[in-house]
Amino acid sequence: MDMSTGSEPVTIVGAGIAGAACAVVLRDADIPFRLVERGRSVGGRMASPELHGRRVDIGAGYFTVRDRAFTDVVGRWEDAGLARRWTDTFGVLSPGNSPTSSTGPMRWATPGGLRSLVRELLGDIGVDSEEITTVPDGDVVLAMPDPQANRLTPVPDPVGYDPVLTVVLGFDSLTLPFENAAFVNDHPVLEFLADDGARRGDGASVLVAHTTASLAREYLDHPDDAVAPVIDAVTEVIGSTPSWTHVHRWTFAKPVSAHASTFGCVQNRSSTLYFAGDQWSPGGPPRIESAWRSGSDAGRAVVDRRRR
Ligand SMILES: Cc1cc2nc3c(=O)[nH]c(=O)nc-3n(C[C@H](O)[C@H](O)[C@H](O)COP(=O)(O)OP(=O)(O)OC[C@H]3O[C@@H](n4cnc5c(N)ncnc54)[C@H](O)[C@@H]3O)c2cc1C
Repeated sequence: MDMSTGSEPVTIVGAGIAGAACAVVLRDADIPFRLVERGRSVGGRMASPELHGRRVDIGAGYFTVRDRAFTDVVGRWEDAGLARRWTDTFGVLSPGNSPTSSTGPMRWATPGGLRSLVRELLGDIGVDSEEITTVPDGDVVLAMPDPQANRLTPVPDPVGYDPVLTVVLGFDSLTLPFENAAFVNDHPVLEFLADDGARRGDGASVLVAHTTASLAREYLDHPDDAVAPVIDAVTEVIGSTPSWTHVHRWTFAKPVSAHASTFGCVQNRSSTLYFAGDQWSPGGPPRIESAWRSGSDAGRAVVDRRRR
């Protein structure tokens, strides 16, 4: 039986920002739904666990705001003190060269960690803690990276993802050759360094290092072993050694390309499947704002189809 146009609850799988944005659209349209997340917390790659007494952004480090509708959401976060303009200028480091800097779009950061934004979006929307292993019948939104969705059902023309290892380094005190954060070019180990104390606004001596995809691939099965080469590389850049470290593996950190539409849709015999996430980003680099746009558009498509 085709249940996809019925009144059964929509299943949204994944409570990252794409799944949360989709849930908000369905709630506002009075469409019944169930939001399911396998992780211990919401937010997905907008992850801000507590380490050594304070929250640290170990996934996405900041966000940009180009999408007009997203501007309204960010304005609400800014008014509530949840998000703030951080900087439009990052350092640029490359081996053998003096540090320079590069100015780009305004980067936004959060005093309470990026996960707090997903929590705010969700408000009182409940999340069922469960790992989905079989696609349920009815309308289903898979709000996650294509390789994860592909484990449940074939994704049309799936986009691949690069891995990243995040190493958080705590120092007794920190003096950096850049302000706020730095892109690291042509380096075998490091790709990005962020001063988490500057980003969060509390001045803590905590540095967050993102590795290159090639180093992450090398250590994907044993990420703890990547800490030593990262410490060596960071010590070379900043001249001091950390007092503690924490490593996190992101197997599917960043899409290597993007779909040509903001969400996907496939009709099966027993379900209508919608695909959403940062990889559904025709208008720019796959980021937090593209994930929000994708989840919102997938939600609107579900609403339109149900009201037809
Ligand atoms: C190291 C790193 C640095 C980044 N830096 C930036 C940055 O500076 N700026 C920026 O804009 N973006 C950045 N990003 C990308 C940004 O984090 C993502 O674009 C955005 O968070 C994607 O959100 P999403 O909802 O599409 O996916 P996700 O956040 O990955 O959410 C998917 C959710 O689905 C859940 N899930 C998956 N499978 C199942 C299942 N079978 N059952 C139940 N739940 C499931 C997962 O647990 C997860 O919570 C970075 C990402 C990483 C990892």
